[in-house]
Amino acid sequence: MVTRLVSLFLVFIVSVNQIFAQNILNETTSVSWENNSLILNTTNKITYAEARLKDPERLIIDILNCSLQNKSLETKFRSELDENISVSEPTQGQVRIIFQGISSINRKAYLTNNERTLIIKVARIDTEENGKITESSDQTDLEKYTPGKFKDIIVEGIQDETEITISSTKSIKYNTYALKNPDRIAIDLLNVLPPESSLPKFNPTFLVSGIRIGRAASSIDATRIVIDLAKENIDSNIDSTLLGNKLKIKLKINKEKEEERKKSSIKVVIDPGHGGYDTGASYGGFDEKDVNLVISEKLKKSLEEYGIAVFLTRDDDGFLSLAERVEITNSIKPHVFISIHGNALKTTRTIRGVETYWWTGKSEKLAYLIHKSILSHIKIPDHFIRKARFFVIRHASCPAILAELGFLSNHDDRKLLTNSTTQDKYAKALTEAILKFLDVEPRKEERNGESAMGRDGEKKKQ
Ligand SMILES: [Zn+2]
Repeated sequence: MVTRLVSLFLVFIVSVNQIFAQNILNETTSVSWENNSLILNTTNKITYAEARLKDPERLIIDILNCSLQNKSLETKFRSELDENISVSEPTQGQVRIIFQGISSINRKAYLTNNERTLIIKVARIDTEENGKITESSDQTDLEKYTPGKFKDIIVEGIQDETEITISSTKSIKYNTYALKNPDRIAIDLLNVLPPESSLPKFNPTFLVSGIRIGRAASSIDATRIVIDLAKENIDSNIDSTLLGNKLKIKLKINKEKEEERKKSSIKVVIDPGHGGYDTGASYGGFDEKDVNLVISEKLKKSLEEYGIAVFLTRDDDGFLSLAERVEITNSIKPHVFISIHGNALKTTRTIRGVETYWWTGKSEKLAYLIHKSILSHIKIPDHFIRKARFFVIRHASCPAILAELGFLSNHDDRKLLTNSTTQDKYAKALTEAILKFLDVEPRKEERNGESAMGRDGEKKKQ
């Protein structure tokens, strides 16, 4: 009993550093098992003492002045070599690792260069000397657990693409996280120490508004890079293969998603003029209110194909006052307001053509685009674009125009306004002008000069 106690004291090695390290409390942040080795990471330099005991064979390692960051780091398991292994904090401020079993004879503890990682592995055995442990540690294996140093980060932005290249002194292990509100990408470089000095100022690109670099929360030896995105719907692609000690992050706008987003947030109000007892102009058996509604509904359908949210001030033959039309419109807060009318002149039936009216600032551009588009799609004279104080366009809270699509009092114009094919052309002309005004891209099929119809006459899936 006495002899064993003596031998226990003899094998305990206490380094001088321990005395100076006493006042800095160290914390164990992770305990893992890899390649038959126990790997323990801490926040500060490790000071440890080891003891070997017999009957049964045990290797005991005490990490001095160190606690476990949380209870979940307490570990107990059986190794591939039939050892019972435990990690615990039996007394506060001292982490104890026990390997129990015959194989523990061959185990040895190593510290990595930064002295914050302890690896307990099976040492290389010199078989010629019948299982005697050599004292040389395996440098290449130790190197594996030593974190790399952050070298630099290069950001290159070319139009709607940005490439970010991160360099380290070692091959980078990483995790990425896509974060919302605001949109950003976080990348944890798991085996790279944060840069020691501040990095040169970063110039924002079209897609990236900022880059922040700091210590990752997960480990003292890991770096977190946060990329603040300047746009929504950005696809990111991370590549670490064939790049040596580099990580390349490619950012690109997802054009389809971006278009969807733009369109879904766009609202248009169409106001079919007149309604109910107010028939508007009435010629050749046609009431203006009906013509206005039919063309408005066609325009609605056409705009909706682009994902635009379209609202009609009336979708039946009900009467609406001008004030009610404005109230409906302004409660929707649309991006564009279009009032659809047919013209008439009692005195002379030879007058024909398109008239487009606007009142406020941006409405002039909208009026111009609509007027021009109608004239390019339909064979009808250009009557004029004019600034006029019509109630609905004066009070709508967005770019607003009133279009007199033709003269119902004129025979030729009336044919255009009441014929289903030319009504479709009006809808197409107005749609194109509105898309142009709102800066919405036409569909792919149209970009390629094809129609929206497939060869078999069926509509292609959008
Ligand atoms: Zn009218």
